[in-house]
Amino acid sequence: MERLDAFMARANAAYYATNDPFRDFTTSPEISQVFGEILGVWAAVVWQQIGSPDPVLLIEAGPGRGTLMADGLRAIRSVAPAFAAALRLHLIETSPRLRTMQMERLPQATWHGSVDTIPEAPFILLANEFLDALPIRQFIRRHDTWTERFVIDGKFVEQSARPLPSLLAEGSWGEAVEQVYELSEPALVLARSLGHRLAAHPGAALFLDYGPEHSAPGDSLQAIRAGRPADPLADPGTADLTAHVDFATFANTARDAGAIIHGPVPQGIFLAHLGLFQRTDRLARTQPAERAAALIESARRLAEPNRMGRLFKAMALAGRDVPTPPGFE
Ligand code: SAH
Repeated sequence: MERLDAFMARANAAYYATNDPFRDFTTSPEISQVFGEILGVWAAVVWQQIGSPDPVLLIEAGPGRGTLMADGLRAIRSVAPAFAAALRLHLIETSPRLRTMQMERLPQATWHGSVDTIPEAPFILLANEFLDALPIRQFIRRHDTWTERFVIDGKFVEQSARPLPSLLAEGSWGEAVEQVYELSEPALVLARSLGHRLAAHPGAALFLDYGPEHSAPGDSLQAIRAGRPADPLADPGTADLTAHVDFATFANTARDAGAIIHGPVPQGIFLAHLGLFQRTDRLARTQPAERAAALIESARRLAEPNRMGRLFKAMALAGRDVPTPPGFE
């Protein structure tokens, strides 16, 4: 019997070690090069907002194939060569397989298993679809009785939840007869660590991910196997497991540790504000008709509310003296 977060950690580690996740699902940087370019320009503006520190750490959490950062660095070199010269690239990645892919595209980087080993210094962090991959615990409340979900032989079993994590014990909950509550402890450890760093050094961290704006109870654990929704508990290591990001709890935790929070705002509004369509048009004009149409279609996919524009959100953590970062005004 394994607690759900331990099961999810083990299943995802095996999955990312043996599969090419990008055969099973497509992320924003893999949809359009303009996504990474925009985040690169965002980082360049934030670098100026924090006083152009040199050196500065440019960190990405969960870089996947390295596409976002490769596109971002190309844009940075063209719009902000001084930032390109000042930045030191640090990547947080646990999968040896993906590290190998990243090394080919980003040979200048230093790799870390978590944020803990990254030097204390001014930094800008980017993370797309990283938090949704972090393990969650699931608790069930029936009136005043709480249980926690464990996994055995591909099925959930419940055990009495004692001690109940303080976040749940201190919450005030509605009258629903039965409700599932999720808690990602690794996400909150990261929020706390970034909050402390932002209280001590100039910097900002940008997270793009999917989840509701306000914390809401409900079971959001999902699995994608071979491109299709699947049973999350069956055949661990053969499917990508994710859960909705609880932005509000992440934000509160980072704020308590010393960060200022901006957003979350819907991804579509964030990207449009930062010039997604203008950049895409400019690029499309230089391309053959078919490729131009594909570029415009991919920008729409990222931004339209009924596609990735609304469920996905952008949220930034920043230091107290940092002006509001681009896209959050
Ligand atoms: N940002 C990329 C990849 C998203 S998939 C993109 O948008 O395409 C999630 C990424 O996070 C993968 O690179 C995965 O290996 C990494 N990852 C998952 N859990 C992790 C953890 N606990 N620590 C570090 N990296 C992790």
